[in-house]
Amino acid sequence: MSIQVFGIQVSRGVAIGRAVLVASSRVDVEHYYVSADRVPQEIERLRVARNAVAAELEGLKADLPPEAPHELAALLDVHLMLLHDEAVIAATKHWVHDRHYNAEWALSAQLEVLARQFDEMEDAYLRERKADVEQVVERLLRELGRIAAAVPVGGAGPTKVVASAAVPLAPPAPAARDFAGEDPLVLVAADVAPADMLHFKRSVFTGFVTDVGGRTSHTAIVARSMDIPAVVGAREASRLIRQDDWVVIDGDAGLVVVNPSPIVLEEYRFRQRQSELERARLRRLRHTPAVTLDGEVVELLANIEQPDDAAAALDAGAVGVGLFRSEFLFMNRGGALPGEDEQFEAYRAVVNSMHGLPVTIRTVDVGADKPLDRPGGGEGRHEHGLNPALGLRAIRWSLAEPGMFRQQLRAMLRAAAFGPVRILVPMVAHLSEMLAIHEAVARARQQLVDAGKRHGAVTVGAMIEVPAAAVMIERFLRHFDFVSIGTNDLIQYTLAIDRADEAVSHLYDPWHPAVLALLRQVIGAANAHRKPVSVCGEMAGDSAFTELLLSFGLRSFSMHPSCIAEIKQRVLRVDTRQLGAVEAVALSSESPALAVRAALASAQA
Ligand code: PEP
Ligand code: MG
Repeated sequence: MSIQVFGIQVSRGVAIGRAVLVASSRVDVEHYYVSADRVPQEIERLRVARNAVAAELEGLKADLPPEAPHELAALLDVHLMLLHDEAVIAATKHWVHDRHYNAEWALSAQLEVLARQFDEMEDAYLRERKADVEQVVERLLRELGRIAAAVPVGGAGPTKVVASAAVPLAPPAPAARDFAGEDPLVLVAADVAPADMLHFKRSVFTGFVTDVGGRTSHTAIVARSMDIPAVVGAREASRLIRQDDWVVIDGDAGLVVVNPSPIVLEEYRFRQRQSELERARLRRLRHTPAVTLDGEVVELLANIEQPDDAAAALDAGAVGVGLFRSEFLFMNRGGALPGEDEQFEAYRAVVNSMHGLPVTIRTVDVGADKPLDRPGGGEGRHEHGLNPALGLRAIRWSLAEPGMFRQQLRAMLRAAAFGPVRILVPMVAHLSEMLAIHEAVARARQQLVDAGKRHGAVTVGAMIEVPAAAVMIERFLRHFDFVSIGTNDLIQYTLAIDRADEAVSHLYDPWHPAVLALLRQVIGAANAHRKPVSVCGEMAGDSAFTELLLSFGLRSFSMHPSCIAEIKQRVLRVDTRQLGAVEAVALSSESPALAVRAALASAQA
């Protein structure tokens, strides 16, 4: 039966594929494809694992002391029975045989199927047997870990990742997508942490759906950077969608269609082709300078999360990096933070990749929905605090860890010897923070001088993302070389809406008059003081706001590389001399979104 699930649109386009639900098992799980000739070997691994677990359980049963409760032996019998149940092993073999999943992936896929069946049982006793299946599968997974794996398709060794509530699926080897008979896959998960999202960047998934999250949550931001259709905040999706269901992700409408009828599927396939053609057409603009009809030059910069993303930025025609979210270097490391040299190498890699174009590196912005996985220390103590979005995050965390902060600044200053680097500081709100930042930069530089290490000149800018900073922008401008407006947080803090909470996502409104007034104020003040100003929040890459931001005087936008072509197309078609009406209605109307649309339509008429 076909069903529809509504969520929040993250990235545009249509994805069609079979659902891969994240496994609920709690052990490490490897996910990769095996080639056709290795299928028998992989099935043999399953057989060997099953026999080993059966022997283990038989042994446990035989060793039970006579005084052991009778229930223990009964439990072991249940586990042995499950181990030989067709629904466990035979059905798992089907995933290996038909889909060429490796044994671990197949087992966790089948566990998802069985878990659903148990969840739907009326009888409470039977429902509880789900835990037994999970335990048996866990034993099997552990046993499989001891049996040499088949070589995955593509030849690379299997990537092992830790399964958790938000299970990261390892990206299979690159050649896996060429695998004969493979259907496209879409990921369906209750939640995926931003750090785990990075695992999917170069993975096989052609789209993804999560139950939770808002449009500007960091999970959504990383998803958008992958440039695949995605929907978040789809609440019931991971419960309603079953392993292997056919799923259409309509990224334009924020809609997920499960098991669509043939006619609906055909319609979506048509739309998919259309949007691919449109993307190919837009791609032709990538080397065209972004200049408006009246000759205003507009800077289109890229937001990146990892050094490797610089290639996509250049390929998309970015004229620099406007935001390198350095905190992603600090994640997925089991708590070991990167040292100065490692950071320096990462920053230098970006600087080198950009061949002389400016690179804006943001100092670490951990906290809120990007917790550090540092056990028991620093920000880690606070990540589950009362309200992490208002807690020890971003510059507050850096100033609380001065050694760590200076280490990062030194790495940035060293990278600046290889090309233009701008240091951007997140969440600044206090004058005392401004002074502390400059002091830290000066000390970091002095340390490099003392150590005789090569370093370069930098400019230092502040993110304007706390209303306090926007309100006192004039004073901020005196202390910083440039500013960059983080609209994602500016909206969150102006409207008191948690950007990651889908329950209030309908109130997260970039068109709110208070937000627009702050944006206008900051852009106007920076231009008046001749200080560079950019917007690096999601608004910059949303074409609904391009003319509006231009009308406010903005000439620098930083966004996901995948958004650049569309924004450039808008820029190329605009005459900024005709945007006066847009600015006026945006600032005076009670419904700015409608008023701006009407003003743009009449300007084009
Ligand atoms: C923002 O807040 O708009 C921003 C660009 O930073 P982040 O999304 O990483 O918080
Ligand atoms: Mg921010």
